[in-house]
Amino acid sequence: MNGANWMNVALQKANDSLKAGEVPVGCLFVYNNKVIATGNNTVNETHNATRHAEINCIDQVLEFCKEKNLNYKRVFYDIDVIVTVEPCIMCTSALYQLQVRNIIYGCANDRFGGCTSVFEVPKLYNSGTTIVGGIKGDEAMTLLKEFYKGTNPNAPVSKMKKKL
Ligand SMILES: [Zn+2]
Repeated sequence: MNGANWMNVALQKANDSLKAGEVPVGCLFVYNNKVIATGNNTVNETHNATRHAEINCIDQVLEFCKEKNLNYKRVFYDIDVIVTVEPCIMCTSALYQLQVRNIIYGCANDRFGGCTSVFEVPKLYNSGTTIVGGIKGDEAMTLLKEFYKGTNPNAPVSKMKKKL
């Protein structure tokens, strides 16, 4: 699968998040062409402001490595992060410290974006991580707008499914 195909899966996760009353961000960690972690925000559910989709995925990868007896540092080097919204400053920093291979995101995050929008976290690190933004960004943005409008979270589902 290519970035756009993976992004469709991440958008579905974001849509699930919207229905659960969380900020609609969907995230996948792909390793050897397989999804080994999927996440959405669980900030409201856990009352923990750091439980972003990316952080939830990082925890799943650590669990995966423990089960398979793999060196997590090496695994992170080969991980592609697919996320519907540009990671925030906290998450971009975490992903750079882990030195993931690629970060592929949908729409820009004008309020908290740590890749380019608010602060350029990559400048702080000497990492081989590459970033590609704007993959199906309009669809990710539509979900965010629905969330912040506070409209019926079930309303955009059929529309999204048609687009996918
Ligand atoms: Zn974040």
